[in-house]
Amino acid sequence: MKNLEDITREELEAIKIVTFDIDGVIIPTGTELRENLDGTELYMKSKQLSARFIENLKKLKKYVRLNFSSGRNILYLKSLVNEIFDQEIILQAENGNLTWFEGSIIHPTYPTSYFNKLRDIKERVKSMMAVDKRIRGFEPKMFILTVHCDQMREIPDLVKEMDIENDLYCLWTNEGYDIGSKNMSKGKGILNLAEYLNIDPKHIMTTGNNYNDKEMLEIGKGVSVEPDRVQAEYFIEHKPEQLGGELLAEFLLKYYT
Ligand SMILES: [Mg+2]
Repeated sequence: MKNLEDITREELEAIKIVTFDIDGVIIPTGTELRENLDGTELYMKSKQLSARFIENLKKLKKYVRLNFSSGRNILYLKSLVNEIFDQEIILQAENGNLTWFEGSIIHPTYPTSYFNKLRDIKERVKSMMAVDKRIRGFEPKMFILTVHCDQMREIPDLVKEMDIENDLYCLWTNEGYDIGSKNMSKGKGILNLAEYLNIDPKHIMTTGNNYNDKEMLEIGKGVSVEPDRVQAEYFIEHKPEQLGGELLAEFLLKYYT
C-alpha cells in the first residue's frame, strides 16, 4: 500500500468520480438502533456530516462527480447528502444493490427464493431476539438483511445453516451483520457505474474502512482509511479523532485549486 501523498498528477487527472463510504469514513461510527419484538416501534440514532465537509463537497463537485456508497438504505443516503443533492450526485445503497443515477433507481433482479431465504433467516433471528438481549433489531432494507446486535457467532452460524446453496455473505459491520447475495457488492456497484458512464473503473476513486468495502477498493482507485483492516492501492493517514474521508476531500481540493 502506498501513502496517498505519493499519488501522481496523472492518476489524479484521470479521476472522474470520487466515492465516499459513509460510516467511519465521513461520519463517526456508532449508529444506535432498537426495535421492539413485533416491529411496531423502531428507534434509530445516527450522526451527521460536518458543516465543513459539506462546504468542501460543494467545492469538490465542481471538479469531479461525487458518489456515496454504503450498506445503509437509499432514503438514509439521500437525506444525509440532501444539502448538496442534485442530478450529478450518485448514491449507491445496500452494498451496491441500489444505485440512484441521473434520476433513476437501478437494482438487480433476484429470484423469489432469495427473498424467501432472507425472510426465513429474519424470522429465526426474531425468535432469538425474544430471549437474547444482544440482538437489538433490524435496519429497514430492501435487498439485504441487516441485524443490529453484538458480535456473536450465532448469526453467521445461522446463515451458514440456512443458506445450503452458499450464495449469501454475512459480514460484520461494527454494529451488526449485513446479510445479502454474493452476486452483489459495493465493488459490483462500481463496475456497473463505470459501465453506465463508459469509463474505466480505475477512474473512479473509492474509499472504505471495512470488510464490505474490500471489492470496491480493489476495483476502483482504492484509498483505505483503515489499512489494518482493509487493503487498497493507497491509504490515508489520520489520527483517531479525524475522519479519513474528510481528509481526502481536503487533499483533493488542494490539488484541484
Ligand atoms: Mg464503512
